[in-house]
Amino acid sequence: MKMTDTRNFYIDGAWVAPHAAQDFPVYNPATEEPYATISLGGVADTEAAIAAARRAFPSFSSTTPAERGEILRAILAVYEKRVGDMAEAISTEMGAPIDMALSDQAGAGRSHLKAFIRAVDGFQWERELRPGVAGQDLVFEAAGVAALITPWNWPMNQVVLKVGAALAAGCTMVLKPSEIAPMSSMLFTEIIDEAGVPAGVFNMVNGDGAGVGSILSSHPEIDVVSFTGSTRAGILISKSAADTVKTVSLELGGKSPNLVFADSDLDAAVARGASFCFANTGQSCNAATRMLVERSVYDRAVEVAQSTAEATVVDLPGKPGGHIGPLVSQAQFDKVQSLIQAGIDEGARLVAGGTGRPEGLNRGWFARPTVFADATPDMTIMREEIFGPVLAMMPFDDEDQAIEMANDTPYGLAAYIQTGSAERARRVAARLRAGMIQVNGAGRASGSPFGGYKQSGVGREGGVWGIEEFLEMKTISGIVDDA
Ligand code: NAD
Repeated sequence: MKMTDTRNFYIDGAWVAPHAAQDFPVYNPATEEPYATISLGGVADTEAAIAAARRAFPSFSSTTPAERGEILRAILAVYEKRVGDMAEAISTEMGAPIDMALSDQAGAGRSHLKAFIRAVDGFQWERELRPGVAGQDLVFEAAGVAALITPWNWPMNQVVLKVGAALAAGCTMVLKPSEIAPMSSMLFTEIIDEAGVPAGVFNMVNGDGAGVGSILSSHPEIDVVSFTGSTRAGILISKSAADTVKTVSLELGGKSPNLVFADSDLDAAVARGASFCFANTGQSCNAATRMLVERSVYDRAVEVAQSTAEATVVDLPGKPGGHIGPLVSQAQFDKVQSLIQAGIDEGARLVAGGTGRPEGLNRGWFARPTVFADATPDMTIMREEIFGPVLAMMPFDDEDQAIEMANDTPYGLAAYIQTGSAERARRVAARLRAGMIQVNGAGRASGSPFGGYKQSGVGREGGVWGIEEFLEMKTISGIVDDA
């Protein structure tokens, strides 16, 4: 990375020193050692960034969609050039293995930029209310100055989903990345700078939730807050944004069910489901963490999940290959350990993994790919988002019971269905209270809306729908063209 001082923030088109330095170490989760130092911003830094964004708003919000498309293309070109550096930054700060950091983590940023370029080109910014009604116009406009608050688990996925959409909409913004994984965002800021984004449009201030995060979410000059992270923080942000009636969009946690029916291609479906649960070391909001299996094939499914866990290699993030890396932090390590212990204490049957580190790794926040069978709906491991490589399995007797169990959660982000019957897939998908349903391992196309029902959040990110989160809709009645 070429940035000179990682303690600096990016405000009004320039790297600037914090008003009052407050050093904060960034840890490498594979070594448990700090390797960089950032500064946590305070009121003066945050207000300077908000003021810069506010000053830039009138001119940036009146750019044409085509001009904003050009800005996104310029960012994409620099991003492509630095995608290898990006993968390395992400891998070091949060532990994603380097190959996956390049293809999936850094790759997500690229794919979202492309989707926003498509969406900004195709969006209908001005519409008539309905055909044949003259002088009733709808106009979509930038909603204002946006605060973007992101977590550490998919850093560039989440940052680009917000920054790309806000730029496409014509909003100006202040990004506060996760203080646990801020280095990828500092690199992204360099990319924004090199791409020539006008001064003040994009600002970046490092900080924690209690500091910069809550200053942003309560500030009267912020119009929109877009947040991804825990449901706990999402609730606090909503409350603090309420006094000034901001638009708030939230991408929160999940406890997504994977419904495995006996008519599925069982071994492949279970292996894929378990691997997906362990991917990114379980640190994905849409991880398929509850596997519900039709009773007639349950024992076989447990065997396959067990052998999938045992075959999942845990290793250093710097090594090439398809293994999984460490958890992000000591706090996440401790949390995952205590939830695995809760599974044991509450009587679930441990069939793979367990507490402690995998064999051969005695340093780094590495956890063991873990499978519990015979979980029950009231167990902690069935209710709480673990954010570690932990799968909980339980059997069901029929479709109705499977759906009831799947929906028995305060979350509603994603749900997965494994079945050989398209008719069943359609019937079950219609009754699942979740924002994203994936059948038989199907991927989600670029530009698909990402988001959930219930306590998994409010709003959608990605493509056209992501841009709409940063727009206001104005109606203009009574302008009829001169005859
Ligand atoms: P978090 O929600 O505390 O932090 C995410 C972001 O929000 C960070 O940038 C943080 O600084 C900021 N933040 C925290 N409190 C805030 C507040 N009151 N006001 C404004 N901003 C605030 O998440 P975490 O502590 O990093 O992880 C804790 C748990 O959250 C994890 O175990 C996991 O279950 C969940 N999580 C979910 C997602 C997701 O994508 N759904 C992502 C990360 C974490």
